[in-house]
Amino acid sequence: MKTLREIDFENKRVFLRVDFNVPLDEAGQVRDDSRIRAALPTLRYLLDSRAKLVVASHLGRPKGKYDPKLSLKSVAQKLEELIGKPVILAPEVIGPEVERLKSQLNPGEILLLENLRFHSGETANEEGFARELASQIDIYVNDAFGASHRAHASVVGIARFVPEKAAGFLLEKEITYLRKAIENPERPYVAILGGAKVSDKIPVIESLIDKADMILIGGAMAYTFFKAMGNEVGQSLVEIDQLEKARSILEKAKEKKVEIHLPLDHVVSTSLSAEATTSIVEGLPIPADSLGGDIGPKTIAKFVSLINQARTIFWNGPLGAFEFEPFSHGTLAIAKAIAASSAISIVGGGDSLAALSKAGVTSQITHVSTGGGASLEYIAYGTLPGIEALE
Ligand code: AMP
Repeated sequence: MKTLREIDFENKRVFLRVDFNVPLDEAGQVRDDSRIRAALPTLRYLLDSRAKLVVASHLGRPKGKYDPKLSLKSVAQKLEELIGKPVILAPEVIGPEVERLKSQLNPGEILLLENLRFHSGETANEEGFARELASQIDIYVNDAFGASHRAHASVVGIARFVPEKAAGFLLEKEITYLRKAIENPERPYVAILGGAKVSDKIPVIESLIDKADMILIGGAMAYTFFKAMGNEVGQSLVEIDQLEKARSILEKAKEKKVEIHLPLDHVVSTSLSAEATTSIVEGLPIPADSLGGDIGPKTIAKFVSLINQARTIFWNGPLGAFEFEPFSHGTLAIAKAIAASSAISIVGGGDSLAALSKAGVTSQITHVSTGGGASLEYIAYGTLPGIEALE
């Protein structure tokens, strides 16, 4: 895989795939511009190298149809403001007007295509659509780490129809850090997984059993494991179709002598809400009318002591329903413990990032991944479709 420094961009028409899938407010304005900022080093480098820049991203899920609410118009304005240069917004993703705009681009100019997902060919990785994206393009650059686990036309398909391709700085940085967690991690290597769904995280748990020394599991996910072990978990969220899988993961961990730590106590309530009245249940069962919404104080203490011994930490997913204050303490405590640790810390996933930001500790993390799903897949498989397409 080539990096930007290995290519001469002068006067070349470059297709830059970025992840500008930013949250918008009710007025359609960009609520958080972190993802746009994350792509600025690559954008600036390409502009300074006198490339003719065609930039493309998806935004939300318009399902292959034009949707004015998901136009990249406010993204274009934000980008203009951040980069201090005019940004031409194309009215479409492909077509004669886009071809004309592409052909008229001068070195150092930016053309932003409309939302890639306005066209159904994007998620379907349609060959004809990929060819049109590649039309007139000399060099393809992928800097959309957060989208690189998807075999979509602008991530995978396009690469076949462009003579030269490279990874942008953000993609390069993500790979550098995530690779550390896969190849020769400093030990002990502690992985912390939370969130609601075990099903999403099975490949990553399986891979972590081969690589990590300890896996700490919290969030609703823990209850699928407890249930699989024959415990009563009341109304807690359980993925009933994953019990067999959970059992085999526990078996495999035992064989490989990898410690899986599940919660020792639970913050329980009869409902998940900001007003919920909670109590602490030690051990199991969870009462039949209640659910576990967060890890309890004993679990926090145990997890923090394990985190304190770690030399490498990977964290993805909240340890409770942290959107609601009564169930937010576990996730915030873990965020702070990871931040305070001197280990190499890698954190991915929107919820975990939100927790870091709420705890005010984002800057103390070694590497905050811009892609939740992508970082999990990279840890699980050691590559991503979007990375393979560049090789
Ligand atoms: P995921 O998308 O699988 O990472 O799950 C994230 C969601 O899991 C968040 O919205 C949390 O509110 C939710 N979550 C975490 N722990 C629990 C729990 N114990 N009970 C219910 N929901 C939870």
